[in-house]
Amino acid sequence: MMRAFWDIVKDILVHNEAIIEDYGECMEALVTREVAQTLEIPEFSHLCRSQTSDSDDTVQLSYDSELFGRLARLFKGSGQFSQMTINPRPLRYEKIIATLPEKITFSNAVFKLNDTEEKTVSYMLLFFRYTAISDEKKDGIISLLVNETNLSIAVLDRNSEDKYSGSDILRELVTRQSIEQLNTIDKMDTSLAIQAAHKAVKAVIMAELKGFISSLNRRLNRNIERVVDYYETMLSETEQRAIKKGIAGDDKTADKIKAIKTELKWKTQDLITNFALNIRTELLSATRILSPTSVFKITIQRRKSVREFLITYNQILRRIDSLPCEHCFFPEKPYFVCDDKLHIICRNCYIECKKCERHYCSACYPDGCPKCGSELKGSG
Ligand SMILES: [Zn+2]
Ligand SMILES: [Zn+2]
Ligand SMILES: [Zn+2]
Repeated sequence: MMRAFWDIVKDILVHNEAIIEDYGECMEALVTREVAQTLEIPEFSHLCRSQTSDSDDTVQLSYDSELFGRLARLFKGSGQFSQMTINPRPLRYEKIIATLPEKITFSNAVFKLNDTEEKTVSYMLLFFRYTAISDEKKDGIISLLVNETNLSIAVLDRNSEDKYSGSDILRELVTRQSIEQLNTIDKMDTSLAIQAAHKAVKAVIMAELKGFISSLNRRLNRNIERVVDYYETMLSETEQRAIKKGIAGDDKTADKIKAIKTELKWKTQDLITNFALNIRTELLSATRILSPTSVFKITIQRRKSVREFLITYNQILRRIDSLPCEHCFFPEKPYFVCDDKLHIICRNCYIECKKCERHYCSACYPDGCPKCGSELKGSG
């Protein structure tokens, strides 16, 4: 995690025309006057990722450091969005087409390949930072490659298929930049791509925080049990004392018991508030990458309905873009196709209703089962 963070900072600085000498734990950075002013650091700085006793001139760089917060200023205005066009690598169609039936599979639908053509596909390489705060804190950086043509999203550096991190990819792409500027591209609205990315990021974070959340719940429950034990003992002692004194049931005892119960309620509520999980995500940077490549037009058929869909060869990851889940954008295989709009949805989003046991599409019906009206709890 720390390595990716360090690399991203380096990339941001290099992207802003800095000259970097990386020594592992620390780096020397020569930045432009403008960057120096924006970041409030000297033009020649010694940046370290951990607290060192080096000298007073050392600038500490961690998620919590002021400098990290100031880095976001570099994205203000034009810097936040950068764009590049890359040179495509030659492809062997036959080979790719031969792998389609194995790569593109639906559990309840079929597809056929109609046409192959050369097109410019637009991607967005996005870096997000998340911070999860409860009684403990956890943070991380997630990089996504979003296909703006069909909303297929690759989560980089998280699975065995794509072993490169976002910053590795960015570095490599710079060497493949084309001088040609492409204008005609066929893509979805940027807001749709960003929306899809936010959904995917949320799902990735939840998957990543699984252990953190269950340990959080364990600690919360343990604390609540302790508080409940304490107050229950106090209650029974109060009652017993009253019995001994022969005043059980009188107003004073009743008030005392009521006060203890109220305090227990407040204490429990306090614990729940203290342990509540607050997750903040922030888009750090976005790079649009235009890539001429081969696209495969397919027709998906579900019962008597058909839908056209574009399968794209990803020149950045050098593989066919996997199918998106048009609800969560962080699919778990296998894929299904819905009856109404022929959405492509993943196993997690093709929901079996607990009440009527019929399947329905989360993209069409995000609130619950359309057949029996059973509501979906805790959907995301
Ligand atoms: Zn899904
Ligand atoms: Zn139902
Ligand atoms: Zn649907």
